[in-house]
Amino acid sequence: MVLGLPFIIGVRSLWLVDMHMLKRSFLLFVVLSVPSVTFDADFGKAMEEVVVINNVRYPVPSPWQGHKITAKTLTVPPLMQIPVALTENESKLFLLDKACLALIQMAADAEKDGVYFEVDSSYRSSWYQKKIFIRMMAEGREFNDIVRYVAPPGYSEHALGTVVDFTPSNWRFAGTPAYNWLKNNAGRFGFFETLPESSKRETPWEAWHWKYIGVGE
Ligand SMILES: [Zn+2]
Repeated sequence: MVLGLPFIIGVRSLWLVDMHMLKRSFLLFVVLSVPSVTFDADFGKAMEEVVVINNVRYPVPSPWQGHKITAKTLTVPPLMQIPVALTENESKLFLLDKACLALIQMAADAEKDGVYFEVDSSYRSSWYQKKIFIRMMAEGREFNDIVRYVAPPGYSEHALGTVVDFTPSNWRFAGTPAYNWLKNNAGRFGFFETLPESSKRETPWEAWHWKYIGVGE
């Protein structure tokens, strides 16, 4: 009995140490498990987001997934035609009236500084965005390649009717006086670069893509 007591105390303290370690490893298990649970949830969500082109379902990849634009198809009004003097090849392009009026004012102000710009794309419905993919895929390009540069149908801000692409709508635009002027002045007219050189979402840089958000809205 006298000899047995230290033995029991010894076993009990060992047990306590074991329980302590067990708790710690359980906590560690929980901590390590949480991110993987979140990841799985995101993965499941990504799998749900698909676009259908030519009857083929394509999963929406990052950075677009989770950023679907819910916009109804717009007509005139509230769409308004951009004056052809401001569009490439005098093409008929449309913007929501507020954005269009701000664009006209902005162009007039730029002209005073000797800077001119032209719009080569503005409102595009989700249906039109799909046509872009169909055309590019007919030219032999893969969905996964196109989607690195072009938002999938339903994911383009152009469906909002508040976005313009200035010409040239490619990497050269970043080197133009128009881009430099916009960087310094567009905010005064409510236009902002929404696909900038670096972003948290890591969207492709589209220096030519500007969105009317409004002034102080
Ligand atoms: Zn654009």
